[in-house]
Amino acid sequence: MALLEVKDLEVYYGVICALKGISFDVNEGEIVTLIGANGAGKTTTMQSIIGLIPSRAGTVTFDGTDVTKTPCHKIVHLGMTQVPEGRRVFQELTVYENLLMGAYSNKNNATFKDDLERIYTQFPRLAERKSQIAGTLSGGEQQMLAMGRALMSKPKLLMLDEPSMGLSPLLVDQVFDIIKSINKDGTTVLLVEQNAGKSLAISDRGYVLENGNIVLSGTGKELMQSEEVKKAYLGG
Ligand code: ATP
Repeated sequence: MALLEVKDLEVYYGVICALKGISFDVNEGEIVTLIGANGAGKTTTMQSIIGLIPSRAGTVTFDGTDVTKTPCHKIVHLGMTQVPEGRRVFQELTVYENLLMGAYSNKNNATFKDDLERIYTQFPRLAERKSQIAGTLSGGEQQMLAMGRALMSKPKLLMLDEPSMGLSPLLVDQVFDIIKSINKDGTTVLLVEQNAGKSLAISDRGYVLENGNIVLSGTGKELMQSEEVKKAYLGG
């Protein structure tokens, strides 16, 4: 059974149909990428899965539970978190306080200290800067903080919306390395990316989204070798 199963999902913004009945799944332990151009529907997919945007039709099943109509805060308790596009850390709070906010979605606050240590080990840069105001962190550090905050609740599924956006090539590599290591540690990952090359390279499987439809799917390797993907997303 898949950890996440999306079936015939349709989302509208008023009369505009942003998702036209998409179906895909993510198995436990996998990294799965959704790639697509601007406006393809990637963010809408992620926001709808986590209960921030209502769907008009279709179902979302997470860990055996139908969460199609479940509000976001309840879904988070079931073990799914997301890092939204643009990172959105609490700018005025310190690194530590941001991580503390992440722990609020964890039912078991008794493990807070251990969770914090785990995140500081995984992101040594955050440990060095625990008292720094988040708004003064670099873009890459803010991305790490957003990921660290999402991981405080020990999610089964972590969804990341364009984690490489706006980062220098070196930092992009670092972020993808961290995603790989998070996955190795047992977290299943759903990635949404325009940086198709890097994301497919670390993914078990991927789906190509175009105008609200899934038009292609395969293993990361297959998609990287696909002529269509090469032409449209990998610069020829
Ligand atoms: P990007 O890579 O540019 O972030 P995306 O693949 O994440 O794009 P979405 O943000 O999901 O795409 O948008 C899908 C479609 O839905 C687009 O045509 C977009 O204009 C439209 N859309 C998104 N949000 C809204 C909204 N709040 N109201 C109306 N239309 C919207």
